[in-house]
Amino acid sequence: MINVRHGNGVAIDIDRKKFLLDPLVTDFVSFVSHAHLDHVPKAVYRLPYATEETRELIKVRDPTFNAKVVDINTRYEEDDFSFELMCANHILGSAQIYLEVDDVKILYTGDFKITPNKTTKRLKMPDEVDYLIIESTYGKPEYVFPDEEDVISDFLSWIDKKIFIGKKVAIGVYPLGKAQEIIKILNDHGIEPKASALVEKYNDVYRKFGVKLKTANDSEVIVKSMHEVLNRPLNGHANAVVTGWALTEDFGDVIGFPLSDHADFNQLLEYVARLNPKTVYVTHGFTEEFTEEIKKRLGINAIALKELKLL
Ligand SMILES: [Zn+2]
Ligand SMILES: [Zn+2]
Repeated sequence: MINVRHGNGVAIDIDRKKFLLDPLVTDFVSFVSHAHLDHVPKAVYRLPYATEETRELIKVRDPTFNAKVVDINTRYEEDDFSFELMCANHILGSAQIYLEVDDVKILYTGDFKITPNKTTKRLKMPDEVDYLIIESTYGKPEYVFPDEEDVISDFLSWIDKKIFIGKKVAIGVYPLGKAQEIIKILNDHGIEPKASALVEKYNDVYRKFGVKLKTANDSEVIVKSMHEVLNRPLNGHANAVVTGWALTEDFGDVIGFPLSDHADFNQLLEYVARLNPKTVYVTHGFTEEFTEEIKKRLGINAIALKELKLL
């Protein structure tokens, strides 16, 4: 018997064994999929499993954080279960959590993406699973991203034009993950941007793991947090944000480019169809909407995990 619910992270009970995925408080057998704030524990009671990259990225914010470090894409056998952290192709070190308990195969995607990024390793997909727990950040049909290379070329030509007329450019992004993607895209275009102090801290972890990112102390282009650019657009600068939400949101004077490190609606649906599990549990996003789409379009049993409000 398997029971999957949302409370202290995603909790799985199977054959009297208990697993916690991205919990607020780690206990029992816990896993941390990646270093974004909404997936990171607030308290560590027992050390969770995580990749070394994830541990080092979390330590940027919380130097006391620790984890049982395991290699990505490597199977580990414990007494009564086995597991593998499979590359999620989302940010540095991000992993899906694959569990095998008494021949039952379970996959939790965490945040993931199918099409390749510039600074992450390719998505690894298991051969088959019985149960799939999938994120649904962009789990509504209107969230289908345009071709990424088209967005990137629009973005770069917008920057080139601004620089050509003598403007400086401020780019607002999520400081972990998207910032490093944008810096790599700029580097490949011959631009070495200036990065804010927080972005630079994460850059250093990426560099430690072999991702080459070139930044400069002075540049026509600055990469900083999205909320800074939106709340305090720099005077005399051309301001842009890069986020998947730019697909549907208007940021006023700030131009938006829809580039995401998440699967869009089509990729989410494709992943469910390819794995064809017995049951899909939907979490983290448009849970109700995506659950209905899975049932309607794929005829696969799906359940929305209710996010419990912790008092
Ligand atoms: Zn994330
Ligand atoms: Zn997330």
